[in-house]
Amino acid sequence: MGRTVLVRTVSADYDLIVIGAGVAGLTAAMVARHHGLKVAVVAAGAAGGQIINAERIENFPGFPKGVAGHELGTLLFEQAEAAGAEFMLDTVEGLAVDGEARIVRTATQDIRAPAVVIAAGSTQRSLGIPGEASFLGKGVSHCASCDAPLFKGREVCVVGGGDTALDEALVLSSHAARVTIYHRGERLRAQRRLREQIAAARNVVIEGQTLVEEIAGDAAVTTMRLRAQNTGSSREQKVDGVFVAVGLDPAAAFLRGVVALDLSGHIETDIMMRTSLAGVFAAGDIRKNSVAQIAAVAGDGATAAIAAFRYLNSRG
Ligand code: NAP
Repeated sequence: MGRTVLVRTVSADYDLIVIGAGVAGLTAAMVARHHGLKVAVVAAGAAGGQIINAERIENFPGFPKGVAGHELGTLLFEQAEAAGAEFMLDTVEGLAVDGEARIVRTATQDIRAPAVVIAAGSTQRSLGIPGEASFLGKGVSHCASCDAPLFKGREVCVVGGGDTALDEALVLSSHAARVTIYHRGERLRAQRRLREQIAAARNVVIEGQTLVEEIAGDAAVTTMRLRAQNTGSSREQKVDGVFVAVGLDPAAAFLRGVVALDLSGHIETDIMMRTSLAGVFAAGDIRKNSVAQIAAVAGDGATAAIAAFRYLNSRG
């Protein structure tokens, strides 16, 4: 099943605008439609958001054998579309207030609605080290399920110690000769199931307390410079591929000054996903204290949709 690209156009104003078409946004759109709201979903990328790069998702309820990320993304899109949500492919640049109306400003138009669910997700964090940007696509990657086959029989590494890093390493282990996970902490942050799967993979090794300081090469990556945190010593390491998986930053910069954000830029919400601005809700890993697991993120979307429905009802 291929990736679903959002191509529908929006022609009128709505009860609810959902920003983002990841798990949270698509669930919010589907649930809001089931409550009778007229819903538009505005998103800048393929339906499914982050999960479309996940080779296999094993912790979403209802899929005991797991499900490919792109397949789940497509199913969620089809479900929201079948419920009657309208989709448009556009980049949201701002959110404005005009009395009771909330205005979603995109690159091409303003769309008005009394309620908005922000489910714009996150962007992948970079290390910010020399060579990382210049070798992107030439050995540096953020997506093992996209690029792992390019590294058949080669020496690769993953930087990071969370769930994403271990997921990436598992995908790479069936292609590369050897996968090394470099993480800066004393222990991995990732969940136990993934740590057990990594321990069982014969060609994955883990090096903790290790910082990657530089990525180098010529036409493509050939080496990296590592520093041991405990001794301070540094060394050069040969490598063909560097997969960076050091966490996510909320894609909420366009909301600064409109809704309350915490110090890390996540949107502050209450338990019903209400933000500091009436009629505006947030769902998924863009919000403060999200556990960023897809089952929970889907729950956020459903809660935000129902909260929006109640808000609209309370206004008559
Ligand atoms: P994460 O949990 O925030 O882990 C980020 C990792 O990168 C940590 O090991 C962190 O080290 C390290 N790191 C951060 N900044 C760094 C830097 N500048 N230099 C070197 N290392 C750095 O991020 P994630 O793994 O992307 O996961 C994000 C969320 O998605 C989590 O809630 C996770 O549970 C969820 N997720 C779930 C699944 C799943 O359920 N299968 C899969 C993927 C993601 P420290 O620990 O030392 O801070």
